[in-house]
Amino acid sequence: MNNAIKSPIIIVGAGAAGIGMGILLKRLGLPFVIIDKGEVGASFLQWPQETKFISPSFTGNFFGAVDLNAVTPETSPAFTLSTEHPTGRQYAKYLKSLVEHYDLPVVTDVEVENFDYDEHDDLPFVLDTNQGMHFASHVIWAAGEFQYPHYGNFKGAEHCTHYADVWAWSDFIEDDNLCVIGGYESGVDAAYQLSRLGKKVTLFDGSNQLNFHSSDSSYSLSPFTRDRFNSVKSHIKVVNAKVMSIEKFDDGGYTLTTSEGEKYSTNTAPINCMGFDSSTKLIEHLFEVEDDHLKLNALDESTLYPNLFLAGPQVQHDKALFCFIYKFRQRFGIIGEVLSERLDGDKKLRESIIELYKQNQFYLDDLSCCDDECHC
Ligand SMILES: Cc1cc2nc3c(=O)[nH]c(=O)nc-3n(C[C@H](O)[C@H](O)[C@H](O)COP(=O)(O)OP(=O)(O)OC[C@H]3O[C@@H](n4cnc5c(N)ncnc54)[C@H](O)[C@@H]3O)c2cc1C
Repeated sequence: MNNAIKSPIIIVGAGAAGIGMGILLKRLGLPFVIIDKGEVGASFLQWPQETKFISPSFTGNFFGAVDLNAVTPETSPAFTLSTEHPTGRQYAKYLKSLVEHYDLPVVTDVEVENFDYDEHDDLPFVLDTNQGMHFASHVIWAAGEFQYPHYGNFKGAEHCTHYADVWAWSDFIEDDNLCVIGGYESGVDAAYQLSRLGKKVTLFDGSNQLNFHSSDSSYSLSPFTRDRFNSVKSHIKVVNAKVMSIEKFDDGGYTLTTSEGEKYSTNTAPINCMGFDSSTKLIEHLFEVEDDHLKLNALDESTLYPNLFLAGPQVQHDKALFCFIYKFRQRFGIIGEVLSERLDGDKKLRESIIELYKQNQFYLDDLSCCDDECHC
C-alpha cells in the first residue's frame, strides 16, 4: 500500500488530546495531519453505553471558568450536548463537531504499529502503520490509554471481562451475582451501574480506595463517584482484599481467591477494573523511562529525541499526573508555542493565540502548584 503521509507534524490519536492539540496548531497556522486507528473519539465510543463523565461540564467560559471537559477555550460540552455529565458517545459527538467546525485534517483507520527514528532523513520520525509508512519531522503522541486494557498480574486474569470490553451494563441483565475487581473509578462505576440494575455485586477493593481521600482527583475517587456509590452502597458487598487467582470450571462457574484466603463463587466472568496500560508502550524505546513513566523535558518532549512530544493523560512530571482533560489541556499551549517557534510560525499570531490560552488556563508552565493539598 502506498498512501504515505509526509508532514512536518503528525498527531497520533483523534481523542480529546489529539483534537485539542490539532485545534491549537490550526489556529497557529501550522501544517499537520491527525491520524487515528479508528474514528474521531474512538475511545469514547467504546465506553460502556451508560457510563458518564465524572468531571462536570458547565458553561462558565465567558466568566473565565472554561468548562472542565472542553479541549479548546471557547467551547463547552455542556453547551454542545446540554448535559452536565456526558456519556462517552455524547462526548465523541462534541469532538466530531470540533473537527467539523475547525476543519481539521483527520485521517481515520490508520493504526501505528511501530515507530522509529531515521537520523538521515528530513522527516526522521517513521510511523509504520497498517496503511504503509508515514513520515514526520515532529510527532505529538496522543494515542491515550483506554484501548490498552490492563488485566493485572494475578493467575486467571484472562478469564475476566475487562471494563473496556463492556458494551453496555444492560448486557448483564441475565446475570445475578457479579464480581467486580478494582475499587478505583472504573470499578466503582461498574459496581454502581450493576447495582442499579438490581444485581447482587461484590466489589474487591484491594487497595482500599473507597476509604482513601486526597484533594488531587488523580489519586482519589471523585465526588460524583462517591455520591453514586453512596446511593447504592447498601446493595454492594465490599471486600478489602486483593484477588490473587481466578479459577474457571467446565460448568461455566468461577471461583475467586483473595489475599485473605477467602473464596467467592460466581457464574459470570468477573469484571476486571484494574485500569489501563498505555499506548506509550509503542514509543517507549524513544524515551528515557523514570519510575514507570516516560521522562519528559519541560516542553513535554522526549529527553532523547527532540521534536517527539507526548500529550494526554500519560503526561507526568514528578508527582503531577495530568490524567484528566482539565489537567492535560493545560499543556497544549506549551507544545503549540514551541512548535510554532521551531517551524517559523507567524510570531504575532503565536503571541496572540498563546496569550488567549494562558488567560484561559490552557498553558501551565509552573508545576509547583500541582503538588499540594487543599486546606479544607
Ligand atoms: C470510564 C471513564 C471515565 C472517564 N471520565 C473522565 C472524566 O470525567 N473527566 C476526564 O477528564 N477524564 C475522564 N476519563 C479519562 C479520559 O477519558 C482520558 O484521559 C482521555 O480520553 C484521554 O484522551 P486521549 O485523547 O489522550 O486518549 P483517547 O481518548 O483514548 O484517544 C486516543 C485515540 O488514539 C487512537 N489510537 C490509539 N492507539 C493508536 C495507534 N496505535 N495508532 C493510531 N491511533 C491510535 C484511538 O483510536 C483514540 O481515538 C475517563 C476515562 C474513562 C475510561
